[in-house]
Order: sequence, then C-alpha cells, then structure tokens
Amino acid sequence: MTQEEKSCIFCKIVAGKLPSYTVYEDNQVVAFLDIKPINPGHTLIIPKEHAPNLAELDPEIGGKIFKVGVKISAALRRSGLRCDGVNLWLADGKVAGQEVLHVHLHIVPRFRGDGFRIQVGPEYGRSPTGSELATNAASISQALKSV
Ligand code: 5GP
Ligand code: ZN
Repeated sequence: MTQEEKSCIFCKIVAGKLPSYTVYEDNQVVAFLDIKPINPGHTLIIPKEHAPNLAELDPEIGGKIFKVGVKISAALRRSGLRCDGVNLWLADGKVAGQEVLHVHLHIVPRFRGDGFRIQVGPEYGRSPTGSELATNAASISQALKSV
C-alpha cells in the first residue's frame, strides 16, 4: 500500500478502518452514505482499488461504478426517501471540486425546492462558432487515440 493510499479516507472505509453506512458492496466497488449529504440518501460509489482520478481509473471499473449508480438511482426513487429526481455528480480534479482524492460518484436524490443548484460562470450561454466546435471535437478525437 502506498503512502497516498494509507492516508486516504476512502481506502480506510474500504479496509473497514473507518465506519460507513454501506448501501451496496461487491468485489470491485462499494457504495455508502455521504456524511454531509446534500439531501438525505446522498450516496457515494467508489472503486475498492485506490485511483486518485479518472485518468488513473480502469475504464471497466468506471463502467461498473456507473452501472451501480444507475441501480442506486432507481432504488432511491422507491426507497421512501424524498426523491423525485437524481443528479449524478463526479468531481475529477481539485479545480473541479474534488476534495477526496479517491474517485467517487455522487448519487444525489432531488426534490422540488431542495435549494441545490449549480452555479455557472460568465461564459455560460455563449454559442461557440461552428469552426471552434469542429476544432475542439477534432482535438478530443485525436487525444482519444492515446488513451
Ligand atoms: P468531493 O468534493 O471530493 O466530490 O466529495 C467528497 C465527499 O466525501 C463530500 O460530499 C464529503 O461529505 C464526503 N466525505 C468526506 N469524508 C467522508 C467520510 O469520512 N465518510 C463519508 N461517508 N463521506 C465523507
Ligand atoms: Zn483511496
């Protein structure tokens, strides 16, 4: 185990060294309640194997995390908790709001008037030109070849 893993809160939860309210577990992932929920039932799904960010996560495990997220979203809607909708949220990198550097997918139950909102920057709403979109799409397609 690396130093990073030893000091990782979520690795400690996986190892049973820190308590958690577990919702689901298998050999690859574990899902548990967030200790500071946006709304009751707010769940986090993590890979059991430490990966600090998406670039270092096996895409197969990423797929598994999303698959479990789909099921937990459906479960929340029939759980009796207030849940008329769901947001899936993943902060990848500190600049994106990631505080715990072990990949985790937030499953956030939503209901009308809950007050949760995402604030966008001043650039939001600007329509890029077709050539800008084409250039950006080409850059991403090209980069995908080396991922
Ligand atoms: P981030 O900002 O990195 O996307 O989200 C980290 C989340 O982990 C936060 O919502 C925070 O409340 C949650 N969290 C931090 N420490 C613990 C912990 O020890 N146990 C649990 N269950 N959740 C935690
Ligand atoms: Zn970890």
